[in-house]
Amino acid sequence: MERDKIEEVAIQLLRKASIFLPIDVKNALKKAYETETSETGRTVLKTILDNIAAAEQLNRPVCQDTGIVSFFVKGRAIDYKVIESALIKATIEATKSIPLRPNAVHPITRKNSGDNTGVRIPGISWLYKDTDYLEITATIKGAGSENMTALYMLPPGEGVKGLIRVVLESVVRAGGQPCPPVILNIGLGGTVDLTFKMAKLAMIRPLGVRHPEDDIAKLESKILDLVNQTNVGPMGLGGKTTALDVKIEYAYCHTASLPIAINFQCWADRRATARIHPDGSVEMID
Ligand code: SF4
Repeated sequence: MERDKIEEVAIQLLRKASIFLPIDVKNALKKAYETETSETGRTVLKTILDNIAAAEQLNRPVCQDTGIVSFFVKGRAIDYKVIESALIKATIEATKSIPLRPNAVHPITRKNSGDNTGVRIPGISWLYKDTDYLEITATIKGAGSENMTALYMLPPGEGVKGLIRVVLESVVRAGGQPCPPVILNIGLGGTVDLTFKMAKLAMIRPLGVRHPEDDIAKLESKILDLVNQTNVGPMGLGGKTTALDVKIEYAYCHTASLPIAINFQCWADRRATARIHPDGSVEMID
């Protein structure tokens, strides 16, 4: 697959992700505005909806924190070297042309690369999918929500009760910092690295799409309901809309452990996906 085509599509994805929120996110925010009972909460949600509309009208990023760029690449035959160089180049170009705020710095010196790239950034997750097309999802994630990420290694005996406890604890402790209403992307089980990877996989699943296994799907709905009873509310100012969704991905884990990764996503849930087909045609997916 052509390097230039991948770069061009990745720039389009970053533009789309930074300016236009996915339809599932906009619909969830509209529904929250219609059903929120707190006056302050409604005002906050109205401001968020106005902000989204203004970004689209002015063709400007929906939030000033244009985040750290990550890509999820799926396909059967992936040319890693070509794709990686195209995605790095796209990030540099998108930073200049959209523009995106340069956020990527060295973790110790704090020196900013100035173009949103650096060692291992943009993050790229390579995922096998048995298709002849290449699927690329671009995400940009601000620090406000990422900083609230929590890892728990629970005694296995705590089970579902323990999971619910730590999620509610994390949400209340985070308060308004991750810019609620949030989306909670949860990795359950696995090993410590895998549990974070699963939380990030949950992040690219659209809102309202439940886990295919009934027990996990019910758990997602139950936790969402409980989180929305915490009264953290939009921007932490009170109300019944603390989270727009809860998504869980799980893996088997060691009999002596129960790892849980809770990755917060703010209301500015920015992602965009495209498929590049073997004939060169491009399909944009919300
Ligand atoms: S947490 Fe999200 S909405 Fe809040 S400032 Fe950061 S990117 Fe923007």
